[in-house]
Amino acid sequence: MTDRNQENKSNALLLGVMGDPIGHSMSPVMHNIALEAAGLPGMYVPLHVKPDHLAEAVIGAKALGFAGFNVTIPHKVEIMKLLDELDESAISCGAVNTVVIREGRMKGYNTDGIGYVRSLREEAGELTGKQVTVLGAGGAARGIIYALLKEKVAGITIINRTVDKAVQLIEELNTSGAAMQTATYEELEQYLPQTDIFINTTSIGMHPNVDETPVAAEQIPEGIIVSDLIYNPMETRLLREARTRGCRTVGGLGMFIYQGAYAYEYWTGQDAPVSLMHSAVLEALNHENH
Ligand code: NAP
Repeated sequence: MTDRNQENKSNALLLGVMGDPIGHSMSPVMHNIALEAAGLPGMYVPLHVKPDHLAEAVIGAKALGFAGFNVTIPHKVEIMKLLDELDESAISCGAVNTVVIREGRMKGYNTDGIGYVRSLREEAGELTGKQVTVLGAGGAARGIIYALLKEKVAGITIINRTVDKAVQLIEELNTSGAAMQTATYEELEQYLPQTDIFINTTSIGMHPNVDETPVAAEQIPEGIIVSDLIYNPMETRLLREARTRGCRTVGGLGMFIYQGAYAYEYWTGQDAPVSLMHSAVLEALNHENH
């Protein structure tokens, strides 16, 4: 082995994603291709971590010299108390999806919300002043509502099966002065006509339940923007039906790519090769579904 190879090995960037389950994660494909394209020696690995072992795994990652890692279901909240520092994005969302380890200190970030908003803005245009209806009040909703408020949307209506969770989310997030309210599924019909952007953050319609949809097609106002955080399938029944009603539709793949791109930028200090990451995930998803 040459000296240069040895130097590369010792500087290799160790990255990964902790989750349970983790087998189907597209993050390794996306990050490994990015590292390779940038000529950065390193590797991003799937790490199957059961909830009982999260604390040990985090200490282990630090001991092993990881530069950082992603965290996915079910660890996004639990990990917060195991870190040295939290970025404002993580505090406001109440969840961490990205950890950066530098000089032995671990800092948690949340890139889900900003990743989503970047993808929504790219595909649907300016968000300022828009009236938004969000279905769901889980971890993903929290991140995207936080980021939408930063974009100065005019108002957000949250509709969730468990109404108390939506009420609590508003209490925790509404610091920007935007009009926020909760509503029930029964009241959806009343709110949809005033909606510019309708976002599904629930898992209704996700593989394998691809025939499910959270709203009847005829309830979707014609010509609005309809978005679904789900990216498997890439076009959910909701998006397919919205498209037939003349709506502009935005799927969850862009969010996934951009949350990864922001994490990559935190770890490496370099711009992420977004289009390459996008095509690698697209190919892997197509391969998985055939
Ligand atoms: P979560 O924290 O478990 O929240 C799930 C939400 O869906 C809750 O609001 C829940 O309502 C609602 N829900 C689930 N099943 C329902 C049903 N049958 N009827 C009505 N409401 C239902 O999950 P999450 O982390 O927020 O993820 C939600 C979705 O976003 C998933 O499909 C996930 O794949 C997607 N996501 C995508 C990305 C991306 O990068 N594109 C990133 C993160 C998440 P209750 O509160 O009443 O239980």
